[in-house]
Amino acid sequence: MIHMPVEVDEIAVPFLHRSEVENRAREVLKRHNLTTVPIDPVLLANREGIKVNNAKFSDDNLVGMIVKSGDDVTILVNYDDPPFRKRFTIAHELGHHFLHLMRDGEYVDKEANLFRQQLDGDQETSPSRRREIQANMFASSLLMPEDEVRRYWQERPSIDELAKIFKVSKEAMGYRVASLGLE
Ligand SMILES: [Zn+2]
Repeated sequence: MIHMPVEVDEIAVPFLHRSEVENRAREVLKRHNLTTVPIDPVLLANREGIKVNNAKFSDDNLVGMIVKSGDDVTILVNYDDPPFRKRFTIAHELGHHFLHLMRDGEYVDKEANLFRQQLDGDQETSPSRRREIQANMFASSLLMPEDEVRRYWQERPSIDELAKIFKVSKEAMGYRVASLGLE
């Protein structure tokens, strides 16, 4: 018998359609009765029993990480980052929590995972890249719930204004508005 090495973690990355990720985020918001924007990802994390702490990482490229050890789950976020970035990072780590982190372990996120990785993309990509895209989709869905974005967009179709209201970057709101087919 030949034993082939496998990256269990890689195989464990599910194939999730955009709408499934969207639904997961919607369920989480509903469960915690978080219906008004801006969504507070720290409050949500704390209600899930997850600690969120600022951290000074030795690697400058690191922006966040999530560590799970039994029931103990902690998110660390780069304390130097501006608030809207921290919010997105925390929401991204929550994506790993709800979608990927089924057993003890940790995910370490570099800037490229969150801010340079395109949010969309087909599912025919490497598992680790698929995982990051899904976490970004979850973060977008969490911080910019579809119904709320559509509602505000009808009133004032401005990415700049919506970015302020939802407390996200203009880039993140731009992606979101485009992916919802609003622009
Ligand atoms: Zn990630």
